[in-house]
Amino acid sequence: MKTAYNHWAALTQEIKDSGLWKTERIITTPQGAKIDTTKYPGLINMCANNYLGLSNNDEIKAAAKAGIDRWGYGLSSVRFICGTQELHKNLEAKLSEFLGTDDTILYSSCYDANGGLFETILGPDDAIISDELNHASIIDGVRLCKAKRFRYKNNNMQELENCLKEAAGSRIKAIVTDGVFSMDGTIANLVAVCDLADKYDAIVIVDDSHGVGVIGDNLKGAHEHCGVIDRIDVLTGTLGKALGGSSGGYTSGKKAIIDILRQRSRTYLFSNSLSPIIASASLTVLDMISKSGDLAARLKENTAYFRKGLTDIGYDIVPGTHPIVPIMTYDEIASQKLAEAMLAKNVYVIGFFYPVVPKGKARVRTQVSAAHTKEQLDYVLNAFKEAKQELGI
Ligand SMILES: *Cc1c(COP(=O)(O)O)cnc(C)c1O
Repeated sequence: MKTAYNHWAALTQEIKDSGLWKTERIITTPQGAKIDTTKYPGLINMCANNYLGLSNNDEIKAAAKAGIDRWGYGLSSVRFICGTQELHKNLEAKLSEFLGTDDTILYSSCYDANGGLFETILGPDDAIISDELNHASIIDGVRLCKAKRFRYKNNNMQELENCLKEAAGSRIKAIVTDGVFSMDGTIANLVAVCDLADKYDAIVIVDDSHGVGVIGDNLKGAHEHCGVIDRIDVLTGTLGKALGGSSGGYTSGKKAIIDILRQRSRTYLFSNSLSPIIASASLTVLDMISKSGDLAARLKENTAYFRKGLTDIGYDIVPGTHPIVPIMTYDEIASQKLAEAMLAKNVYVIGFFYPVVPKGKARVRTQVSAAHTKEQLDYVLNAFKEAKQELGI
C-alpha cells in the first residue's frame, strides 16, 4: 500500500475515535414533511430546509417537466460559450425583480456564488469584515481573496464598528454577514449594519440562504424583514432551500458589481450552466411565492405554534421568529440522546455539538415547514414532551 493511505487510515480512525464520524440515513421517499428511511419508515421530518414544502410540490414538478420538454436536459457548456438560454436571462430578471435588486447572476450553488465573489471584486488594498458565525462558503470565498480580514463577534455592532475603524486605511471596506444564522435561527441586525456601512463608507454583502423565501412580508428575505431592501450592495442565496430545494444559487445586487462578476468570477466562468430543469422550476417557484400569501402565512403560523408549544413544555429554545428552532441542551451527550429518543418516536431531528457549534452550546435543531400539518406538529410536540420526561431534561 502507498504511504499516503496510512495517513488517511489514521485520520479516519481519529475522526471515529472522537465520535465525530458522520453516517448518512438513506431516504426511500421524496423529501417532505413525512419521509421513510431504510431503517425508520414513517418519520416526521423536522430537519429539512424545505421551509415552503416545495421540494416535492406538484406544480413545481410539472414546471420542471415542462422545462425539460421545452429547453432540454442540459447545456453542455458554461454560460459565456454556448450555455445561456432565454430561460437563464428570464430567471435572472425575475430574481432581481423579486429581491428588489439591479441585476442577478446564476451559479451552480450558493457555495459557488460565495466562492466566486470576494476575490473578483476585492484585492490586497481592500478589507473584508466578517461575522464570526458566517457560513463555511463565505469563509472559503474570503480565503481565496487577498483583502485584509477582520472578524467580529456574532451580531456585535460595537465590534463591527471597531473593525471598521481599524480598516480605515483600506480602499474598499466590505461587511459580510449571513442574513439568518443557521445554527441559531437569529436574524442579522441589518439596520445597524447598514447604518455603520454608511458612516464608514463600506459596502454590505448579505448571504441570505436561510432568509430568502422564509422571512419578510413577501418572503424576500432578511433585507425585507429589516426594511433595508435598497441599502444592501450584494445578496447571495441558494435555490436549494426554501426556493424549491433542488440546487443552484445566485449573486444579486448593484449592476456595477454583477457586471464584473459576469466577466471575472471564476466559479461562473469555469463551471457549467444551471440546468434548464431547475431554471424553469425556479421561475414557477417565484411566481407561486409572489402570487399567494398563503405559503408565507402557513409557515409563520406553524412556526409560532411550534415555538410556543416547545416553550410551554418547558424547553429552552433560542427565542425568535424564524422556522429554525434550536432546542438547547448545552450538554453534548444530552443533545445526542434527545435526538435518538425522538427518532425512536418517529421524529427526525439532528443534534448539533462541537465543533459545529461552540463547546457547551449543544442543541437539537428543529426546522418548521409550511408543509407540516397541525396534527404533525402536535405529534412532534407530544413526542418532545415524552422525551423530556424520559431523559429528565
Ligand atoms: C446552505 C447555505 C449555503 C450553501 O448553499 P448551496 O446552494 O447548497 O451551496 C451558503 N450559505 C449559507 C448561509 C447557507 O445556509
